Amino acid sequence: MDASLFFSETYETARSRFLEAAARAEARIVSYENPSARGPHGTPLYLDTAWFGPADAETVLLNTSGTHGAEGFAGSAAQLAWIETCGPRDLPPRTAVLLVHAVNPFGFAWGLRGTENNVDLNRNFLDHAAPHPDNPLYDELHKFLCPKRLDDAAMSKMLAAGARFVEKHGQWALEDAISRGQYTHPDGYHYGGLEPEWSNLTLRRIAETELAQARRVAFVDWHSGPAGDGELIYLCFSNPRGAEFARAAHWWGEDALDPATVNAMWGSKRPSRRGIMFWGLEEQLAPHARLTGAVVEFRSARHKPSPAKTIRASLLERWLRFEGGLDAPEAKGFLEEIRDDYAPRRQSWHDNVIRNALACYRETIVGMADWERERARAAD
Ligand SMILES: [Zn+2]
Repeated sequence: MDASLFFSETYETARSRFLEAAARAEARIVSYENPSARGPHGTPLYLDTAWFGPADAETVLLNTSGTHGAEGFAGSAAQLAWIETCGPRDLPPRTAVLLVHAVNPFGFAWGLRGTENNVDLNRNFLDHAAPHPDNPLYDELHKFLCPKRLDDAAMSKMLAAGARFVEKHGQWALEDAISRGQYTHPDGYHYGGLEPEWSNLTLRRIAETELAQARRVAFVDWHSGPAGDGELIYLCFSNPRGAEFARAAHWWGEDALDPATVNAMWGSKRPSRRGIMFWGLEEQLAPHARLTGAVVEFRSARHKPSPAKTIRASLLERWLRFEGGLDAPEAKGFLEEIRDDYAPRRQSWHDNVIRNALACYRETIVGMADWERERARAAD
């Protein structure tokens, strides 16, 4: 089996392959069109779902791809590989799998991370009626991080400002301020938005309709980005002292969820985020279902020699959106650079992504079967 065969060059190809494979496996398919965004050449954009297994299953794997747009190339390939390597046929009794393809189809189609409104979906799942979390250190950084041009002079100026900031606040404060989420600069980094995005509302609607009967939801949200070659990083956002975290550790290994392991693989201590999808879904399902799962990252980028290089994909995305435009002469090259961070074309990466994704599906589904048996025993 050549793992590269599961990877697609474009969102449109990835989508049609997903739909065809799901139809062949007799899944129940539902498509949601984004009414206010278009892809390159004006193509319509869809979030698609495919349900495998009995309609009344109370134990369900919810598996999402493309929450961060361009990171969806890996997640989509993983979903296709699961369908095509007999995943649906081998489901344990009374369990089901709900694949959600391209949570953020705009980002996926254009090769960007954010939504059509430059929103980081994993900062958007919070109560927008309440005051938004503040991030005063980001306000200090914003003007330095948004150069009009990306030439050497602008880069040196930005690095000098970054160095001054680190001297004053420390390295982690810099990383945290940039990536924890901010709600004040719509043209900035990790912007969380002031209202729920279409993707957020659509996913909530899916949870409401497709998971109404669910009592036990396993959740795997595929992402990519941190430096490496297809290894998995499990970011479990459950209470570390609670039953859900313990269950996830039982499925995927204590070590895989251990914060020291996770930080080492991530490359530094993780930021203090708010508004992530995991918590949004956990809260929505809480009245009738427990949620055990993780954001699972495929490591993908090359190891970068400097902080300026590490942040480069985000700089390029921002520049394309707000300074140069997606039709700028530089766009093609910049989008290739971004693509190389989130979905490189190396064979070793393709091989590792597919092998590790299929192992993760197996472990999760074995875990769901245990969870379902536990319930049956408790009901006896
Ligand atoms: Zn991501």
